[in-house]
Amino acid sequence: MLSHNSYRYRIYPDASQAVPMRRTAGMCRLVYNLCLEQRQTWGQRHKITAVDQINALPELKAAFPWIAEAPSHCLQQAIRNLDVAFKNFFAGRAGYPTFQKRSSRGSFRFPDAKQFSAAFDGLTLPKFGRVRWVMHRRLPKQSSNTKIKSITVSSEGAGWFANVLVQQDKPAPPAKAGLVVGIDIGITIPVALSDGATVKMPRATPRHTRRLKQLNQALARKRRGSRNRERTKQRIAACQAHLGRRRLNAAHEIGHALARDYAGVAMEALKLQNMTRSAAGRLAEPGINVRAKAGLNRSLQDVAPGQIRLIIRQHIEAAGGLFELVDPRNTSRRCSACDHVAAENRKSQADFGCVSCGMQINADLNAAINIRRLAFGNATAIPPTGGLPGMACESSSIRSRKQEPRSARHAPLLKRSPVLQGRE
Ligand SMILES: [Zn+2]
Repeated sequence: MLSHNSYRYRIYPDASQAVPMRRTAGMCRLVYNLCLEQRQTWGQRHKITAVDQINALPELKAAFPWIAEAPSHCLQQAIRNLDVAFKNFFAGRAGYPTFQKRSSRGSFRFPDAKQFSAAFDGLTLPKFGRVRWVMHRRLPKQSSNTKIKSITVSSEGAGWFANVLVQQDKPAPPAKAGLVVGIDIGITIPVALSDGATVKMPRATPRHTRRLKQLNQALARKRRGSRNRERTKQRIAACQAHLGRRRLNAAHEIGHALARDYAGVAMEALKLQNMTRSAAGRLAEPGINVRAKAGLNRSLQDVAPGQIRLIIRQHIEAAGGLFELVDPRNTSRRCSACDHVAAENRKSQADFGCVSCGMQINADLNAAINIRRLAFGNATAIPPTGGLPGMACESSSIRSRKQEPRSARHAPLLKRSPVLQGRE
């Protein structure tokens, strides 16, 4: 089984390296944008592919010699990135590719392991030479089945980072036996588990919120295009990058704890674009409930559902567990005890009260139970024989469902983990 892991290190280019790095990132952005424009204008009629555009690079360099300052591999990779963006768009996984802005995070990638070296005392890159870095985490030793595939250099906030992509060919982990769980990424409980455990996510602290507000106010007072404005922008980016790293860390802690305690995990295949669409609405049809929706968007983005889902999936699958995505329709409106579906069931953001059987339960927990049942039926565990889920059915499905919300059966497992907190 091929697995790809990215190892991220902070790198410290000196001034003579940082300037050409920034230029290279800019050149890659330019090529990306030019190729996007070409595809927008001519792509449909002339079936322009990434290979066509890569083959046209020498022509572009002849017309604008300064583009040749950037390593050609990096320019080619920018075109490959655009191609991936289009593939994701056509597969319905992402929106239409957009132009990269000067203010956006710049990056460039070296795809040929023969041209760089990643050693403890420094990273050696073509054109930039040896760049200082702190290898806070060991890279796997390279061998016949462990290879470094690429190195991506990016600037984030005020700092530079290198992502080392390592491909390993390992035997697939044996299928894991154990409990199954449904997970709802919610608003009142950021991460709710179907057995009643909850997980806290780091949100923007009041200190962070205040600092961001101050910086944004300061930004508004700065003259456009001034150095001071640029500096303030960098401070905002650094603050947001810090928040992003806290979320990423929390997501890995959750994924790790879940992979240890469960063999099967189900989550919703959420269409995030709809949920976090701009609250303000369009001019023709102003948004309804703008304040409340703005609040919802903020708290959702605080927990970054797409990111958590991806990371949980990686941890579960690496441990040999089963990861399932379920259809998100009605998971928050269906009663997990009697299956009655009604919008009125959802009393508020937090409370669920079934209009048919009268069950009262936290709305996120109710959704988590529905998600577990959609993926695993009435099974509560994957048996050690490695059979399909569903083989460990309980005799009375209704009893098992009703027990779920109050269940303390898994308490000892959960207590081991400081991340997954039992519900009182
Ligand atoms: Zn009910």
